[in-house]
Amino acid sequence: MSETDILPWHEDNWRLLMDCLDAGRLAHALMLTGPQGLGKGRFARRLSQALLCHKCGAGGEACGQCQGCRLFQAGNHPDFLTLEPLDNKKVIGVDQVREMTDFLSLKSQYGHYRCIRIMPAERMNENAANSLLKTLEEPPAGTVLMLVTDRPARVTATLRSRCQKITFGLPRRASALDWLAPRLPGRGREEAETLLALANGAPLAALALAGGEILDHRRPMLEDVALLFSRQGDPIAIAEKWLKLDAKASLYWLYSWLVDMSRLKMAGPASHLANPDFREDLLRISELIDTADLLLNISRIEKAILQLEGQVNPQLLLEDLLIACEVGSQNNEMNPAT
Ligand SMILES: [Zn+2]
Repeated sequence: MSETDILPWHEDNWRLLMDCLDAGRLAHALMLTGPQGLGKGRFARRLSQALLCHKCGAGGEACGQCQGCRLFQAGNHPDFLTLEPLDNKKVIGVDQVREMTDFLSLKSQYGHYRCIRIMPAERMNENAANSLLKTLEEPPAGTVLMLVTDRPARVTATLRSRCQKITFGLPRRASALDWLAPRLPGRGREEAETLLALANGAPLAALALAGGEILDHRRPMLEDVALLFSRQGDPIAIAEKWLKLDAKASLYWLYSWLVDMSRLKMAGPASHLANPDFREDLLRISELIDTADLLLNISRIEKAILQLEGQVNPQLLLEDLLIACEVGSQNNEMNPAT
């Protein structure tokens, strides 16, 4: 799949923006929001190329041939800038926003637009956000700023209020599968369905899962949970193992397994699950923990997922969480009546 492939679930938003552009009403600041794994950053890239193309075709699509397009595709267009966390850092700092302001103080190299993509926008620290606010209040002519975020609530309200919000929704399951299945050679439609469910319905996230090794570790990791809940596992050793695989994916999976277990407990064994291929195992493991502890652990994981975005030591975070999960099952054993 190439970066420039058009994603079918983008089309409504694309037409909306092209209508704005035709009417001369394209906002100078857009906030592209919606769940992770829908390609919002790619949408911002596609829009930037279209705006910087000298010979846009029907529907506002970039021609791919002109000098603007050639520079853009080579990653050298002087009027396009992406702000993202620098290597080994989790935040977009004020220095990066200042560089962007300097960039905007120059004239456009080709007399068209200047496009800036900020992603993930919620990673801007307070100083960076304040500095960006000044630009949003008085944007230089021809500037189009695109703030890309899965978590709009974590972007300062003053910034949010100055952007036109473009929301991306999950495609319908059938059309997501129609897109996904042909991109997974050697895997059946059933496997595509599992991947899509694991990715919470986001097709690009499902595709990324398919390409990763971690998928092979899913079942052994679920067995680690069974060991924890039956007090036969070592939470420190399990944390170490999961950390080597992928701390973030581990937490998301643990979360989705526990949510599935709570569904099975509360709505019965035929409930709709995010992990339908693990139904039997989840039923078995859910017997090891009571509902109250399960719900408590789910809220612990939610908190840990948020903390992982910040400046925390992932090893300590994972160790604390898995120890807490095990303690929950101990309580269960001490109070068999609950
Ligand atoms: Zn072009």
